[in-house]
Amino acid sequence: MNQKLNNINEMKCQFLDENATYDFLKFLKGRSKVFAPHRKGEASYIYDEVSDVKDVVLQYPRTIQPLKKYFLPPRETLLSFNIDENNFTESEINVEPRIFFGIHAYEMEGVMRLDYTFEQGQPESNYLTRREQSTFIGISYEPDEYHFSKSLGIDIDSVDGFSLYFKKTDNGYYVYEIDAAGQQLMKEFGKGKRVDIPVTKEEPEFTNKIKYHYNRLPQIFEHVYDSKVWEEVAERCVGCGTCNLLCPTCYCFDVRDEVEINATEGKRERFWDGCMLNPFAEVAGNENFREKLSSRTRHRLYRKFKYITNKSGELHCVGCGRCSKYCPADISITKIINNLIDDYADRQQKQVI
Ligand code: SF4
Ligand code: SF4
Repeated sequence: MNQKLNNINEMKCQFLDENATYDFLKFLKGRSKVFAPHRKGEASYIYDEVSDVKDVVLQYPRTIQPLKKYFLPPRETLLSFNIDENNFTESEINVEPRIFFGIHAYEMEGVMRLDYTFEQGQPESNYLTRREQSTFIGISYEPDEYHFSKSLGIDIDSVDGFSLYFKKTDNGYYVYEIDAAGQQLMKEFGKGKRVDIPVTKEEPEFTNKIKYHYNRLPQIFEHVYDSKVWEEVAERCVGCGTCNLLCPTCYCFDVRDEVEINATEGKRERFWDGCMLNPFAEVAGNENFREKLSSRTRHRLYRKFKYITNKSGELHCVGCGRCSKYCPADISITKIINNLIDDYADRQQKQVI
């Protein structure tokens, strides 16, 4: 698996205090649509289009929904049809330049995992068209008890995919110029103070961790298909699908034709779907090939740590912690993985595997 090479200490850097950071957001808004984290209620955050820069939250743990909603909307019309006229019209996707500001490293990695998914085989043009003309500006964060991206090789300061990276310091931000587009933005903004030798602080510790190095996870998943851990998790899981729907790398969808009451016109619509939901694996004849919650949980984890990884070389979990934080049954993905590791080590010791 690839080790990310992101040494920000070798990149050009400027300093912006907090007021200048909001001025920078105004400057960005003058160029194109800007999307950034906003508060939602007392303790939650969402990505939203910036209307007033004062509403943008610079430091936040995570948003409820991932950034994928802008590239793979929860619901979209693929085409409209007319049965009598025997024709259909595909929906047009209009792209315009968009800047995504205040993005955490694991979120960016999630977008890049989706890029891989939708570029493979028959490229998925709706997603890829929406991805065009997107600029991403990263920001550092303090990990909470749910983040574990470091255990998956994604540091807080991983800057793959960003044009600029804002790293919090005492009274503002060090702004690292990652690519030519970012460099150009800072040049046109013109209010940054050049920092000759960027002074970076140590990254804060992640308290949530996976016991083994991430390179070993696909190998462990070779041996835990029949682990008792799957049944233990299933005893608590209620099959709500929240873990799928909030995951930045899950991409499964359902397609349905909705016909109007006149039985002539209709629309073909696509919706987010998830393998933890009972109807997901239903097939004709009233069969369901993953009826048990234990097999659905196992499938979800194998999609993240083995099946796609075998093809892409990348883990398809980015350690955002959403599935654990928002699970109504308090099921933690790191506990599942660590329990699988214990089961694997135990069986190795007993020479069962
Ligand atoms: S969010 Fe929790 S309860 Fe809901 S399907 Fe996922 S693991 Fe099960
Ligand atoms: S599996 Fe959970 S922790 Fe991993 S990327 Fe998906 S939501 Fe985040």
